[in-house]
Amino acid sequence: MLVLNFYPEIQEKLTPERELFLINPLPRGITNGIAFSFVDLYPPLFVMLKALTPKHYGFREFNQIPWHNLYYRKDKLVAITCLTSSSAEAYKIAKEFRKQGSKVIMVGPYVTYLPDEALEYCDSVVIGEAEGVWREVIRDYEKGALKQKYMGEAKPEDYKAVHQELLNSLPEVIKNFLETTRSCKFNCYFCTIPSICGGRLIKKT
Ligand code: SF4
Repeated sequence: MLVLNFYPEIQEKLTPERELFLINPLPRGITNGIAFSFVDLYPPLFVMLKALTPKHYGFREFNQIPWHNLYYRKDKLVAITCLTSSSAEAYKIAKEFRKQGSKVIMVGPYVTYLPDEALEYCDSVVIGEAEGVWREVIRDYEKGALKQKYMGEAKPEDYKAVHQELLNSLPEVIKNFLETTRSCKFNCYFCTIPSICGGRLIKKT
């Protein structure tokens, strides 16, 4: 289906009215590009957001592939996650999608630490875990009233929905997951993990 991205007129006829673009950009630089081409990881965020997005949405996924300008679309909801190494590429993509008339939400550790920087390029930032606020993001998007920042704790039913989505996923996706806890009870000064969930260790049941 990736090839259809190069034929927007055909693709638009085949897709539902509402679409969520899920983007995990490729880090810039030849060394990064080579290194990441050996890492075949499906982003957990894609599973989470698909689980918590209403069923009338279609999805298009861009997981660390070389970006092409033909992928930009207007009037879409776009969720972008990034690492520090891919943040420059993420910001470039976010800015262009907005210019085309789509709404861009950024999610993940990097923007959790730098939400105000991210808001120079996107419409909204999810700070911390996405599970607790994603349904609210969708509601606000459909009302045309997105807030700049979203932050909230996930409930057990949010995790349950994600687990169910995972169980329905392809084996290539499932094989990358084994998550029994999230965050960490230690607080090593160099590590970003504990502060993502407010220093709480979250057990998955
Ligand atoms: S490095 Fe991070 S994840 Fe590992 S023990 Fe320290 S705080 Fe926890």
